[in-house]
Amino acid sequence: MAGFDTLHRRGLMFVLSSPSGAGKTTIARKLLGADNQIAMSVSVTTRPMRPGEVDGKDYHFTDRETFQRMVDNDEFLEWAIVFDHFYGTPRAQIKAGLKDGQDFLFDIDWQGTQQLHQRMETDVVRVFLLPPSIEELERRLAGRGTDTPEVVADRMNRARSEISHWDGYDYVTVNDDVESCFERVHGILKSERKRRARQTGLVDFVRDLMR
Ligand code: 5GP
Repeated sequence: MAGFDTLHRRGLMFVLSSPSGAGKTTIARKLLGADNQIAMSVSVTTRPMRPGEVDGKDYHFTDRETFQRMVDNDEFLEWAIVFDHFYGTPRAQIKAGLKDGQDFLFDIDWQGTQQLHQRMETDVVRVFLLPPSIEELERRLAGRGTDTPEVVADRMNRARSEISHWDGYDYVTVNDDVESCFERVHGILKSERKRRARQTGLVDFVRDLMR
């Protein structure tokens, strides 16, 4: 019989969202580097590839016709239009991975998060990161000071609109300090893995205990 620490569990879908400038990318990288049970969910997108991006790693880049065909064939767990481009989470790889106990990290917007939650409620854990203050956010979004005040103001407005969706998440935490924020987010992931509903091996384990 398998030991208690090796019981099979179902994987989970860990959604990390934040307004840009709140440090989500850093926290996501640290999580992927520190924890070998979680992998990035690679989305399909119609937006053009940016310099330095790798097809199949950052995104699966595709054209609108192919994307539309995938929508028609119900190949996405969720999809959304963000800044005029299409983005979607392909269903097949996620479904198979979850069954094998693989966790996935999602960098998707609030619309996609809502859809995922509606479709796969018990598998989804939603975490939202907030910046420590509006001044700090402005400082981060102003970057090196090479952008015009209009560009910075536009970024701030987008950030405010993203923050307005904070109450659609299970956990909300402030990214005041990268290390402590990372520890909190990792703590959420580790606790969520222990939920009874994910511990699929428990059924046999408990049955043996009660024999
Ligand atoms: P970017 O083009 O800068 O990589 O991403 C733009 C936005 O699209 C980000 O807010 C990102 O979270 C969101 N996004 C990326 N992939 C997906 C996806 O598969 N589904 C949804 N709903 N949003 C996504």
